[in-house]
Amino acid sequence: MNWWAAWRAWRQERKLKRVSVDATLWSALMARYPYTRSLSAADRERLQVLVRLFLHDKAIHGAGGLEVSAALRLAIAIQACILVLDLGLDSYRGWVEVIVYPDEFVTRYEYVDEDGVVHQGTEAKSGEAWAGGPVVLSWADAAASGGADAYNVVIHEFAHKLDMLNGEPNGFPPLHVGMSRERWAHAFEQAYAHFCDRLDAGEDTAIDEYAAESPAEFFAVLSEVFFEDPALLRDEYPAVYEQLVAYYRQDPGARAAAARVPPTPACVV
Ligand SMILES: [Zn+2]
Repeated sequence: MNWWAAWRAWRQERKLKRVSVDATLWSALMARYPYTRSLSAADRERLQVLVRLFLHDKAIHGAGGLEVSAALRLAIAIQACILVLDLGLDSYRGWVEVIVYPDEFVTRYEYVDEDGVVHQGTEAKSGEAWAGGPVVLSWADAAASGGADAYNVVIHEFAHKLDMLNGEPNGFPPLHVGMSRERWAHAFEQAYAHFCDRLDAGEDTAIDEYAAESPAEFFAVLSEVFFEDPALLRDEYPAVYEQLVAYYRQDPGARAAAARVPPTPACVV
């Protein structure tokens, strides 16, 4: 081991000593989400190391009167870290704060239309990810995530964070060596156009229609489906599924099939 690797290992060890995880809470949360129930013991161990480092490096703050409990911190960290289980925490570099509201929060927006008129308004949101800034979450929505409905606001916002690693979110995060930009673009563009056509035709899709907002939202929503209900995404958009397996470097569908994941138990947090 060279001195740099040795220093990094020593630093990581020091961080891990400062953050412990309650074993009962950990087991309950591992049973809570479809994508953690299928993890092997070795993968759970790797996930826990990431979760502890995440909790060391990031500050999770309550807003709007929300008290941040150990269960809330752990639930958010687990869901954030499942995305980077095989990418590493460095993918969340450049920002430190997660802000959690008890419920939907209201943000102000302003835009200038094509006639130069400035419009202002407010919008209720369940989550938000700022470039170089915090991830903001509604706890009511985060706590409701992780069921069988392929909805997960935490995964959604952290997918935006990954997308922002190479600039404005556009559904095109930095790809790994060996991945093809053409193949990625082809898979996502075709699927996006097809999905928008289905909505225009009045179809009631199993995938959240919010995915049609923009290519950035399509990537974030499909990342939710990839982890929450991989069989659904694999059936509907196999080429996108294949690209996400290459990007996230994990295959939740194959993992769930191998582990024969049981249905979701009642909510524990
Ligand atoms: Zn979004």
